[in-house]
This record gives sequence, structure tokens and C-alpha cells, in this order.
Amino acid sequence: MSIQVFGLAVSKGVAIGRAVLIASSRMDVAHYFVDATQLEPEVDRLIRARDEVAAELQALQRDMPSDAPGELNALLDVHLMLLHDETMIAATKQWVRERHYNAEWALSAQLEVLSRQFDEMEDEYLRERKADIEQVVERLLRALQRSALGEAAVHHAVQHDFGGEEPLILVANDIAPADMLQFKRSVFAGFVTDVGGKTSHTAIVARSMDIPAVVGAREASRLIRQDDWVVIDGDAGVVIINPPPIVLEEYRFRQRQSELERARLNRLRHTPAVTLDGERVELLANIEMPRDAQAAAQAGAVGVGLFRTEFLFMNRDGHLPSEDEQFECYRSAVQDLQGLPMTIRTVDVGADKPLERMSIHELRHEHVLNPALGLRAIRWSLSEPAMFLQQLRAILRASAYGKVRILVPMVGHLNEVRQTLAQIALAKRQLTDAGIPFAGAELGAMVEIPATAIMIPLFAPHFDFLSIGTNDLIQYTLAIDRADEQVAHLYDPWHPAVLQLIASTIECGNRLGKSVSVCGEMAGDPVFTEVLLAMGLRSFSMHPSRIAEVKQRVLRSDTRHLAQHLQAVLSDEHPEQAAARVFRAAR
Ligand code: PEP
Ligand code: MG
Repeated sequence: MSIQVFGLAVSKGVAIGRAVLIASSRMDVAHYFVDATQLEPEVDRLIRARDEVAAELQALQRDMPSDAPGELNALLDVHLMLLHDETMIAATKQWVRERHYNAEWALSAQLEVLSRQFDEMEDEYLRERKADIEQVVERLLRALQRSALGEAAVHHAVQHDFGGEEPLILVANDIAPADMLQFKRSVFAGFVTDVGGKTSHTAIVARSMDIPAVVGAREASRLIRQDDWVVIDGDAGVVIINPPPIVLEEYRFRQRQSELERARLNRLRHTPAVTLDGERVELLANIEMPRDAQAAAQAGAVGVGLFRTEFLFMNRDGHLPSEDEQFECYRSAVQDLQGLPMTIRTVDVGADKPLERMSIHELRHEHVLNPALGLRAIRWSLSEPAMFLQQLRAILRASAYGKVRILVPMVGHLNEVRQTLAQIALAKRQLTDAGIPFAGAELGAMVEIPATAIMIPLFAPHFDFLSIGTNDLIQYTLAIDRADEQVAHLYDPWHPAVLQLIASTIECGNRLGKSVSVCGEMAGDPVFTEVLLAMGLRSFSMHPSRIAEVKQRVLRSDTRHLAQHLQAVLSDEHPEQAAARVFRAAR
């Protein structure tokens, strides 16, 4: 039976493929495809792991003290039985042989199938046996880890496309942003998650991969089963499970159309972004990892407007990157830009980007009362001065290799500005004393808190440039958690208060001679290109995949006409409709 699930459209296009369900707790298991020639050795690895675990359990039984409770022995018997049960090992082998999954992935896929069967059991005793399966799989995964391939081989395998097989769609209840990043170079053709808002960091990373994605699809991971056929309509935010042939055909047609459109837009890659009235517009890239810098330049970006460095700091079990490690990352990214500007934002952990692996549920309910309002971004950096100094020194050292700009996230208080300036001055002194070369960097502030937007005349003199983070500015102006799908319908970039704050920041920054950019998701959505140009914005920073489409809008715009209509849009009760009306008339 075909079912439709509705969620939030975060990344455009159509994806059609087989569902791969991954439990949040299994995200850190390696997922890669095994080459056809390596399938039998991979199955052998699984069998060896099973034999190892069986020996482990038998040894436990053997060494059990004579006065140990009888249940313990019975439990080990159950685990041994599960280990040899065909629904576990035979089906796992099948995932390896038929779908080319590595053994760990195959095992977690089978665990997902079995867990659901147990969840649906009427008998409570049997339902509780799910925990036993999980424990057995845990042991198997540990045994497999001991025999894991070397890092280089895994890396190679992740990128390997075993051609001819069906595309795969990743389905999960929740994917943490840092986990999403590990799928960046994998072969998934689309993503679906139950939770998350349109500008949650998971959605942002999914969008940066330029493949169709839907988040906040509530029940998706419960309704979709391993290996189901799934269509993702990334434009409408719809997921169709097991579509009938006629629907599938329609979506295949749309898929071909959007590929043609994409190829057409790609031809604009190296056309300068100049409006009809001759205004030059700077289209910059947002990146998450140093290796993305090269791809950004290839996509036609004239520099990087936002390098989210926090991804270098996440999921590292408390071992934060050293100054040298950071320096190498920044230096290579800067050099890849070959003279184009590189804006490195100091670390912005916290809120939905915790340092350690944690689900959104854990974040919301167990750890911090209100993570979005808590210790994040510059607040965290200033509370960890040694770490902050290390990062500042690493960035400054990279400035010897190209045009580097430092961007400070979430400043909201002038005291934070003063402390940040003092730390930068100290970092420079330390480098000078140690005889380490650096060239210096322009300093910018993110405008993400309404207080900052209101106080631009007081903030701006301390900075060389401003960058409006609309994702957070909307969150904090409207008091809507950007990662919470339950209030996602209220997260509204067209809200008059949001538009007024953006417009006044741009106007005030321009008047004070500070360059102003927008680096939130609004910058990469062509729906907002005209209104932002009308406000006087001439610098946009977005995922590289968005550049061509925004550029097309810029090339067709006349900023003189747009500016004339701005007040009509800002003063309308329905700015979105007003913009569609007046800007269309202006074309
Ligand atoms: C923003 O808030 O708009 C922004 C660009 O920063 P981030 O999405 O990383 O919070
Ligand atoms: Mg932000």
C-alpha cells in the first residue's frame, strides 16, 4: 500500500530509491559499500565475529561462579541461541551479498527489522526480548570493530559507487548535524528525518549536499521499512512510500526535468553576478569542512562568506583539535581559494550543535534546559579562553597564506565585543613574541540576535564587516526554536519584524561604510533575492549549490526599481504576497 508522509522541504529535487533505516544510536557505525569482489570476505568477517562472540559467551558461562543466579545462565543461553538464529545471521549476510553493505551496516539494518517485529508483538515477555537482540548485536559490532578495515580502505569504499544498483534513501528519526556530515561523500540519493526544522543544522548540512531532503516528517521512520521504495519530493516536502507505478513514472519525469534545469543553470557558473542596472553582487559560499573550499570556488563562488568551524570540534570524545591541526585545516582551505577571501567563523557549538554526540531528544530533555538560549557560540568561546586563543592563533597563522577574515558568532553585548578584541590582541602578541608569521585579518560580527540588529550604530565601529545570520535572527526574534518541527509552521522569514530588522541592519551598515552580508539560509533561497537586493544587500553567502539559481535572479533584477518598492513590502501586513506582486510588476 502506498502512503504519503508530509514534512518540511529542505533540499529541492526528486529522489527515488530504496529506504535505508538507521537508528540514531547506530549513526557512528561505519556505512560503506563493499566491492563485488570483496563480498565473500566481508561475509567471512561477519561469521568470524559471530564465532568470536559465541566463544565469548561460552567462556562467560564456563567461568560463572557456582552461586551465580540461574537466570544469568539462562540469559546467556538465550543470547547464544539468538546468535545462531537464522533470522539474524542469514538475513544479515543477505544485506551484504545483495545490497553490498559492509557487515556493521548490514547488522544494524537487520537489527532495525527485528526491533520492529518485536515492537509489534502482543506478548509483553516476547516484546522485552528486543533488549537481548540489541545486546547480542552490540557484542557483534564490537567484535567487528576489532577486525575493521583500515581507515583508508573505508574511506575509499564510502565513495565507491557499485553502479547498476538502485539509489538509496537514508531514513532516520534524527540525524545529528555532525553525523550528517559523515554522509556528505556517501552515495545516498536523499534524506528523510522525523524531527528537525527547516534551518536546523541537520537540514543545513543536508542542503549543502545538494540532494533532495525532507525533515520533520514525524512518523516517517516508523512507517517506512528497510528496503521499501521511497520517493522524496524535496520541493513539496512530501515522502511517498511504495508509490504505485503511475506515480513513480510521474516523479521519474520530474526528476529528469530538474536535472535538465540544473544543467542549464550550471552554465551560469562563471558569469559575473551583475544586475541589469550594473550593480555588482558578491555571491559567496558557506562551507562546513576545509575540503569544501575548492568545490565552492568551482561552483562560481567569489570567496567563502562563512566557514562553520564547529564541525572540526564535534564528536571528538573531548579531544578538541590542537592549534596545529586547526592551522593546517584553515591553511589548506585558504590556499584552495587562491587569493579569494575566506571568512572563518570562530567556533559556534551549543544549541543543536553539541560538542559530543547527542540526539535532539537528549539535548532537549536531559542536558540543558534551553540550549538555544544557553552557552553557545561566542559565549562558549569566551568561557574557554585557552581554547579560544588557540583557535584565534590558528586562524591568524593561516592569514599568512591568503585573504582571511574572522567572523564572531552571536555577539549580543558590547562586553563580549571588548573581550573578543582583547583576546585577538593577545593572540597576535603571542604569535609575535614566538616569531610566528601572520598577516592579520579583518574582523566581522554576526548579526543574529535582535539586540545586535537594534544596536548596529554601537556595534559596527568595532568591526570591519557585518554578516546577518538570518537563521538565528528569525529564531530569536520570533521565539521559535529553529530545530523544533512542532513550531516550524511559525518560523517565518517573511514576518514583518524580521524583515525590518534585516532592512535596518543593511541600511545602517551601508551608511556606516561597513560591508554587510547575509549568510543565513535566506541568502541561498531565490525567493528572497529581490527583497534583499531592494534592501541594499550586495553580498550573499550560501551553499555552493544555490549560487547559480540566485545568480539567475540577480542577473534579471534592476535594483533601482526594486528599491522603489521596498517600503510597500515592509509596510504590508502580508509582505510575501506584496513582494510577489510589486517585484513582479517591477520586472
Ligand atoms: C545563521 O544563524 O543564520 C547562521 C548562518 O549561523 P548558523 O546557521 O550556523 O547558526
Ligand atoms: Mg547562527
